[in-house]
Amino acid sequence: MRISSPDKPLFPEAGITKLDLATYYAGVADAVFRGLADRPVALNRFPDGLDGGKSFFTKAAPKGMPDWAATARVTFPSGRTGDEVCITEAATILWTVQMGALELHPWPVRRADTDHPDELRIDLDPQPGTDFSEAAQVAREAHAVFEELGIRPYLKTSGGRGLHLLVRIEPRWTFVEARRAVIALGRELERRRPELVTTSWWKEERGERIFIDFNQMARDRMTVAAYSTRARPQATVSMPLRWSDLADVEPSDFTVRTVPALVAENGDANAEIDDVAHSLEPLLEMAERDEKDRGLGDLPYPPDFPKMPGEPMRVQPSKARHNGKGEKDSEGKAR
Ligand code: ATP
Ligand code: MN
Repeated sequence: MRISSPDKPLFPEAGITKLDLATYYAGVADAVFRGLADRPVALNRFPDGLDGGKSFFTKAAPKGMPDWAATARVTFPSGRTGDEVCITEAATILWTVQMGALELHPWPVRRADTDHPDELRIDLDPQPGTDFSEAAQVAREAHAVFEELGIRPYLKTSGGRGLHLLVRIEPRWTFVEARRAVIALGRELERRRPELVTTSWWKEERGERIFIDFNQMARDRMTVAAYSTRARPQATVSMPLRWSDLADVEPSDFTVRTVPALVAENGDANAEIDDVAHSLEPLLEMAERDEKDRGLGDLPYPPDFPKMPGEPMRVQPSKARHNGKGEKDSEGKAR
């Protein structure tokens, strides 16, 4: 890969140039490729660097792709389709640097079947008043639930304040089912640790808890790739962790500067993620019990989604109380 303007500062505050970023990805190529292999990917691009004033979240494959780079066709919630960059080799990741991408956001699918996720993603979002240490507690609680179900979850920092859990699943279920599975897990965590966990889509109800963002498992929702940088001044990285290391780390420990040596020394904590693909059945059975025994059905989708079958009214509880009619909240502001 030819990198033009190699001295261009991409993370000025951290002193990281375009060539530095390309060198970073080349240095962790196997590890970063593992999380992106054969996945359609959206690019968060900053052509003039983090402080350059221009940025766009690009879903459609940009013009001028090299002819060896691939695309994959995905279907959006509207039913329309699009072709996104598909990472079929590590060189494509270097090309995204050439395009000024500071964040890589893969779909939880592979190009062979973009309608059936092979990765369950649990997004642990600290709400105001909580932070990484609370997210870590919730992650451990989730680990316990998964262990009871015979499922092996993997863990990574988001590069922000939260954590992501990843579970490799057989690509046999729809996005609707995968999201339902995440909701079931979230509700189980909420029952076990009500003071610490919320699945409320409405911010006014979340409190000082960790929000399990189940809508990140909806179609056309991405999660940043393992080892991808974040568009943040210190060039933090979404870092896979071993469960035994969770107690001893801070998200800021992991940056473009520190991660290559850690990977060289300790290997990729996600190295075995592709070894076993789990069934979603145990979680879907939990969802069924929630529905039958507790009357807990679906939860609201994000505002940009068409009304989904079985979805409850998309209206903030405080507003529903006011107008009493349960009209669809036109603002749809939940996040
Ligand atoms: P944090 O730990 O701070 O929550 P995060 O990466 O999990 O970091 P979220 O806001 O929870 O951030 O979003 C989850 C995922 O949604 C991100 O990892 C990213 O892939 C995707 N995302 C975030 N912002 C955007 C955006 N503006 N447009 C599209 N996708 C986004
Ligand atoms: Mn998050």
